[in-house]
Amino acid sequence: MNRRQFVFAATGAATIVPVAGVLAAPAKYDLIVKGGRVIDPSRKLDAIRDVGIAHGRIAAIEANISGEAAETIDARGKLVVPGLIDIHTHAARTKEGPALCLADGVTGFVDAGSQGADRIGETIAVAKSAPQPCRVLINIGRAGILPEGDTMDISRADVGAAREAIGRNREMIAGIKARLSRDVAGANDFEVLRRSQEVASPFHLPVMIHMGQTMSPLPTLLALLKPGDVVTHMFAPPPNSIIDDSGHILPEVIAARRRGVRFDLGNGRTGHLRWDIADRVLKAGFLPDTFSTDWTPEGRAAQVIDFPNVMSKFLMLDMPLDQVVACATVNASRAFGVFRNRGTLRVGAPADVAVLELRDGTFEFVDNYGNKRTGPHRLFPSATVLAGRRVATRS
Ligand SMILES: [Zn+2]
Repeated sequence: MNRRQFVFAATGAATIVPVAGVLAAPAKYDLIVKGGRVIDPSRKLDAIRDVGIAHGRIAAIEANISGEAAETIDARGKLVVPGLIDIHTHAARTKEGPALCLADGVTGFVDAGSQGADRIGETIAVAKSAPQPCRVLINIGRAGILPEGDTMDISRADVGAAREAIGRNREMIAGIKARLSRDVAGANDFEVLRRSQEVASPFHLPVMIHMGQTMSPLPTLLALLKPGDVVTHMFAPPPNSIIDDSGHILPEVIAARRRGVRFDLGNGRTGHLRWDIADRVLKAGFLPDTFSTDWTPEGRAAQVIDFPNVMSKFLMLDMPLDQVVACATVNASRAFGVFRNRGTLRVGAPADVAVLELRDGTFEFVDNYGNKRTGPHRLFPSATVLAGRRVATRS
């Protein structure tokens, strides 16, 4: 070290960054999430980092942020991931839904078909008052979800009524939901989907189909799907599952993915998820694009519980952690325009963050058929940040 270097080293701390003759003030943050394991698949980042937040946006991600902060979240020993995005829930069915999900780490959601044209105003009112960004899908059945089947009476798949409702609520309706199981649409499944595309077409909106146990063969239905459409309940068991008896994904399913159709979990409680089907689909290398809970107040008490619990099931099924996070964040952000700059912790993005705890132990998970399995890990919600502000955690 020569003398000059020595002087700099000795006094460096006090003399760095003189800008135009003025000492730069240390950076100021509204919030720092400190010392967590940051997993952000959008940037292929998995490392211990501090996340600095200012003015509602991610301002810095560094190994050690030394600036001042009005508030700090101690995330040591926890995971820090982009806010979770749930593209198939029924959180707008009740006034309390959005805040309950938010406490679970869900900073954006889509209410998928809780209501049709007749009462879409009710879900839209909840969605508009929700703290987090959300949109609704309109059920093609104009009376919404019915115990006797949304479109068992085909006249309920009313193209004119659905178009009119979308026209009135263009900013809140992000697509059309078509539930196609035999107990929902009966033999009308193909016609219901055809009409859904007729509704979607002038608005350039995606259609989400609820697959599984349909009357029509799955390939017949997939033929009606366009790029950007979503197939939910991808792990539904036969009849008409995405995989055949010999463990091959149907060629029409692979072709649909290739042309831009998305495949989504849709956990739910009845008929959608069976462990042996999930085993075989994952073993065949056909990973989900997105996870979603199909959350309802009833699901909060059993099977679904919360989004981190749903993610944990796929850790148990041996999906790598970064892919599990991707399905709940960046992948989901691509499915609907409203989330396009979310699902990421890149600097400048809205500061939506989920702090999760990955606990070790013995945890029981159940599929939709009462089959129980145990896994060594489970994710729990710990803290949520929405637009730079910490929100109340789940009680
Ligand atoms: Zn649903």
